[in-house]
Amino acid sequence: ESLNNYLDLKGSIRVFCRMRPFNHEESYSSRTMFTLDESNVFLKVAETKTKQYKFDKVFDPCSTQGDVFSEVEPVIKSAIDGYNVCIFAYGQTGSGKTYTMEGKPKDLGVIPRGIQVLFDRASESNSRFQFTFSMLEIYMGNLRDLLVPGSKTNGLKNVPSLSIKTDPDGGIEIENLVAVTVNNFQEVKRLYGVGTRLRSTASTMANSTSSRSHCLIRISLTSFDAPERKKARNKIWMIDLGGSERLVKTKATGKRLKEGKAINLSLSALGDVIDALQTKKPHVPYRNSKLTQVLRDSLGGKNKEGRFLKGVRTDGQ
Ligand code: ADP
Ligand code: MG
Repeated sequence: ESLNNYLDLKGSIRVFCRMRPFNHEESYSSRTMFTLDESNVFLKVAETKTKQYKFDKVFDPCSTQGDVFSEVEPVIKSAIDGYNVCIFAYGQTGSGKTYTMEGKPKDLGVIPRGIQVLFDRASESNSRFQFTFSMLEIYMGNLRDLLVPGSKTNGLKNVPSLSIKTDPDGGIEIENLVAVTVNNFQEVKRLYGVGTRLRSTASTMANSTSSRSHCLIRISLTSFDAPERKKARNKIWMIDLGGSERLVKTKATGKRLKEGKAINLSLSALGDVIDALQTKKPHVPYRNSKLTQVLRDSLGGKNKEGRFLKGVRTDGQ
C-alpha cells in the first residue's frame, strides 16, 4: 500500500542528479557555469543563455552519502515487498559513480548501505528470506561472471560470455551465473572484494583510472511463508555503469575506442528504454543491448503478483 502511494506520488522511475565537489583541476569558470536548486540544474551555455535540466531531486556538492541513501532507501525496501528494482549510476568517468554506489570504507555508498538495509528488514519481517549475491560485468557486449571459480588465477579472458534466457512469463535469467547464498553483510563484502579485483580497468587520457565496462550486482531474494514454502522470488540490481564520456574528448584509439563505442551503444540503448517507459510508448526496445536485455524484467515495474504498475508492461507489447 505504502509503496503504491510512493510510486503514484513519485513515479516508478526516478532520476536524481548528484554533483560532486569540484577538484583542484577544475577551473573557476567551470564552477560558475552551474547553479542548482532542489530539482533543477541550470547550465550557463552563453553569456545570456542557460539550459535547464530537471530531475526528481538534485543533490548539491555538500550532500552526504546518507542524504543520497535516504532517497534510495524506499526503493531498496520495496525489494523486500517483492518488487524487482534497479538502481544505477550514470555519468562521465570521474563524475562520482563509484563514490556514490560503492563509497569509501568510512563513507559507504548505496550498495553496502542497501545490502545492510536488506538484511535488517529481512530480520524484522514475518517471512523468512534467502538472499543470493551475484556480480558480473558487461564488457564489449559480453557478460562476464565476476565470481566464477578459477577466474582469479586465470583472469577473465578465458571466461565465456553468459547467455540470457527469457522464461515463459517474461522473467529474465542469466544462464550459469554464479549466485552465492549470503547470510550477512560480511559475506557480501568478501564476495564484492573478489569480484572487484577482477574488473577490467585501464587508463584513458580523460582520467587515470576508468571503467569501460558496466559492473552489475544482483541480489536475488526468495521469501518463504512457511519453512519450505516459497512465497516469492525477485531481485535487486545495483549498477555502476561505464563512463558516458564523449569519445572525441578522450582521444581514445584502437582497443580503447572500441570499448568506448560498446559502452556508448549500451548507454544509449538504456536511455531509449527508459524514455519509452517514462513516456509509456507501446514498444520498449529492450533488445538493442545486453544491458537492457538483462534488466528487462527489472526496469518495467512488474510487481510480485506479476501485475504491471502504472500501465507499464515489461514484455514490450
Ligand atoms: P566515477 O566512478 O564516475 O569514474 P569516482 O566515483 O571514482 O568517479 O569519483 C572521482 C573522484 O571524485 C574520486 O576520487 C572520488 O573519491 C571523488 N568523489 C566523487 N564524488 C564525491 C563526493 N560526492 N564527495 C567527495 N569526493 C567525491
Ligand atoms: Mg568508477
